[in-house]
Amino acid sequence: MELSECPYDNTEISAQRFPAGFLLLECAACGAAWELHNGLVQRIREPNWERARDARIASRPGLATSADATDAG
Ligand SMILES: [Zn+2]
Repeated sequence: MELSECPYDNTEISAQRFPAGFLLLECAACGAAWELHNGLVQRIREPNWERARDARIASRPGLATSADATDAG
């Protein structure tokens, strides 16, 4: 299993490689973090669910803003 997108908000995850041989994966949007070691992924930090929801909404074009109101002036 390889994480490239946050499962909570589909934001691209940044990976940090540590000398000890593990990867730290972190979602900048919701703050969730995973540790990848020997092919095993373990979540080490819970996401901020409100921020994850906001990021998910913002990443979907068309949902966030529906400014199609016609200006009848
Ligand atoms: Zn996230």
